[in-house]
Amino acid sequence: MDAQKPLLRIERVSKSYGEVTALRELSLDIAANEFFALLGPSGCGKTTLMRLIAGLEKPDAGRILLDSVDITHLPPHLRPVNMMFQSYALFPHMSVAKNIGFGLVQENLPRKEIATRVADMLGLVQMEGLGERRPDQLSGGQRQRVALARALVKRPKLLLLDEPLAALDRKLRHETQFQLMAAQRDTGTSFVVVTHDQDEAMVMAHRMAVMHAGVIEQIGTPRQVYEEPVSRHVAGFVGETNFFDGRVTHFMPGGVEVQTHSGLALEAGCREHPALGTRVVVSIRPENLRLGPPSQLVTNGAPGEITDHVFREGMSSWRVRLDGGDIVHVRQPIAAGTATYDRGARVFVAFAPECARALVR
Ligand code: ATP
Repeated sequence: MDAQKPLLRIERVSKSYGEVTALRELSLDIAANEFFALLGPSGCGKTTLMRLIAGLEKPDAGRILLDSVDITHLPPHLRPVNMMFQSYALFPHMSVAKNIGFGLVQENLPRKEIATRVADMLGLVQMEGLGERRPDQLSGGQRQRVALARALVKRPKLLLLDEPLAALDRKLRHETQFQLMAAQRDTGTSFVVVTHDQDEAMVMAHRMAVMHAGVIEQIGTPRQVYEEPVSRHVAGFVGETNFFDGRVTHFMPGGVEVQTHSGLALEAGCREHPALGTRVVVSIRPENLRLGPPSQLVTNGAPGEITDHVFREGMSSWRVRLDGGDIVHVRQPIAAGTATYDRGARVFVAFAPECARALVR
């Protein structure tokens, strides 16, 4: 494929249901071999977009191209696209092998080829030897893998996965994330995953889109979206953060100084060029704040008091009430010799300006 041409191109697609606008002139390119995640709050239009790509719905306006071919009006079964549903929808009375091979039988492929491709898929999802079991004789994680094998056996160019790990418990989800990534790499199929779970998207996806009210607010690698969110909504949706509302008081190279409503003077990077006095919000991730002994510094930090301290998975998390009234969340890994602070301790909370973002929207 031409490196410039995407595998899938969504062009200014809109979709309404009566009064409700589910998608608003949305455009998006997905590359061959890409693991792409769609993220956003409930009702933002993720499922609608997936259903349009699968052909289960028609857009009111706009086009969908696959390999440069307009598939906007092509019925689902003629698209080289498959969808794996959250419920897995396995046939309970059929063996695992029959479930996986079902689509190939319907296509009247020779029995020998079906057997070979089913065996390949059982290998891909690490279920060799379990082909004769029925779905009710499998664990939840194994059923998920059968559904994945069944979705991939027809070698679609694009696989749509709607909350693929939602039915699994937390530990199994972690393991299964890596299996999904391996299946995507091994088959070269592009995956588009819808998820509520931003951690899951951050781990698995090459790129992700954060949607809000029928539009895409930001597209980028997980790291870009996490470190350089374009808006308050994206910063708050992807990962935890601390917000400080205020107004721009000075310009600096690559950023601004902000006077917060609570009286702090904070320097922060800014990709836009807001005028003096513009209302902005400064976003600083908990791991970019540092705790130290009380001091007299006045910029990029403030004195305060610890109100809570919890220890979880090798990290200490503190809530600190700054003297100006802001409550902030600070997170640091715990290593030998790290100073720790208990509830009631006086501290100074500091941050490096390059880790803070001033957001206009
Ligand atoms: P969730 O994360 O809760 O699944 P979503 O991001 O997938 O949400 P959609 O299911 O795409 O959101 O819905 C987008 C909007 O369109 C919502 O306001 C929803 O109520 C509305 N909607 C979706 N399908 C229909 C339908 N068949 N009829 C009427 N309204 C619909």
